[in-house]
Amino acid sequence: MEAITRRQFLGVGAAGAAGAGVLGVSALGFDVTEASQVKQRLRIEGATVSHSVCPYCAVGCALLAYTRQADDGHVELLQIEGDPDSPVNEGTLCPKGATSLELAVSRRRVPAPLYRAPGATEWSQVSWDFALEKLARNIKTSRDRTFVTSDGDGNVVNRCEGIAFAGGAAFSSEEGYLATKLMRGLGIVHLEQQARV
Ligand code: SF4
Repeated sequence: MEAITRRQFLGVGAAGAAGAGVLGVSALGFDVTEASQVKQRLRIEGATVSHSVCPYCAVGCALLAYTRQADDGHVELLQIEGDPDSPVNEGTLCPKGATSLELAVSRRRVPAPLYRAPGATEWSQVSWDFALEKLARNIKTSRDRTFVTSDGDGNVVNRCEGIAFAGGAAFSSEEGYLATKLMRGLGIVHLEQQARV
C-alpha cells in the first residue's frame, strides 16, 4: 500500500471537511454531519460563583468556586480557579492551589480507614472508632517506651524520640497548625511536611 504523508493526509481531511456541508460524508469516509451539529456546553454554564480563599498557605490567594444544584438536589462543586480581581494573586494559583478542587471532590480519595494487621498481606476496611483507638494506643505505648527526660549531659529535654510525624501536602493551614500543636504537646521532635520534601 502506498504510504501517505502527513501533508497529504491533512489535505484530504481539509478537502473532506469543506465538502462535508454538501455531501455529509468526508473524503476520509465518515459522516461528519452529526459532529458538526454538536453544540458546545460549558461545564460551568448556569453555575453560581462564590468567592473563597485558598486554604493551603498564608499567601491567601483568592478563589472563585463554581457550584450548581444537581437533578437530585445536592450541590455540586464544578470548578475552582483563581480570582482575577484579587490584588494578591490576580487570577493565578500555584500548583497546589490549582488542585484545591481535589481537596473537596476527589474520585481517588480513600473514603474509610484501611488497616493491615501484623503479618497480613491485605488491607481491610475498618471503622473510624477502630482506627482512632488503635492509633491512640500505639502512640501511648511508643511514647511511654521512648520518652526521654534528659540528654547525655544531664540537660532536661522531655522529648519523645520514638515517634515521627509527616504532614500531608493536602493539609490546610489550620490542620497543619493543629497537628503541629498536638505533636509538640506529645514531645515529638521529628516533624516533617510532605510539601517540603
Ligand atoms: S494558591 Fe498556592 S500560594 Fe496561593 S494560597 Fe494557595 S498554596 Fe498559597
